[in-house]
Amino acid sequence: MRRLIDLSQEIYTGMYVYPGHLKTVVFDHASHEETSERFEGGFSFQTTGLLVNDNGPTHVDSFSHLDPDPAAATIDRMPLELFYGDAICLDVSACDPRTDIEPVHLDTALEVSGLELRRGDILLLYTATHDRYHGTREYLTRFPGLGAAASQWLVDKGVKTFGVDSPTPDNPASKSYPCHMMCRAHHITHYENLANLGQVVGRRFTFVGFPLRIRGGHGGPTRAVALLEE
Ligand SMILES: [Zn+2]
Repeated sequence: MRRLIDLSQEIYTGMYVYPGHLKTVVFDHASHEETSERFEGGFSFQTTGLLVNDNGPTHVDSFSHLDPDPAAATIDRMPLELFYGDAICLDVSACDPRTDIEPVHLDTALEVSGLELRRGDILLLYTATHDRYHGTREYLTRFPGLGAAASQWLVDKGVKTFGVDSPTPDNPASKSYPCHMMCRAHHITHYENLANLGQVVGRRFTFVGFPLRIRGGHGGPTRAVALLEE
């Protein structure tokens, strides 16, 4: 038995995005009523227009987003292998908002899960931020983030790619963003604004999170999914 869990947030006008990013606008572009005049025999269609930041909704950062080196890959040039593979999800939801997640929290979460973190795994961290605050302004500020030591822990464990259910894996109270700096230095990327991680916490599964192939894009909006074997 296989079960698919949607790990993506809805995209809609007014959704909260990271401060400073282009806000999301979704609008009716063509209606059945308008398009029916173009056809005979009753056919018609409707479509939707979108204005969206490439780092706005559920997405994965490109190396070019993280690293000012002109050679850093844009989203269309990154290997698909980074966005697919064996994954586990750990529970860090007890960490206080606006504090650093430390290696001890990750070690404890791993021990409590009873799971093994293998080199090359994708690691998702359940902060519960989306569950608690989605659709409210608190979503942008009320979550913990990986400090420098916990960011190094990801490197040491050989994590391939990681992700969080909050707007950034960094502590929102931080001005230096050590987690993003680790990602820049090591070219390890991450997902932001995931959802429903509570449904996969403490589980091993296959993660599928292919970004849109935006030419020269600095991030890729993603329909992220967990494939659970039961
Ligand atoms: Zn990021």
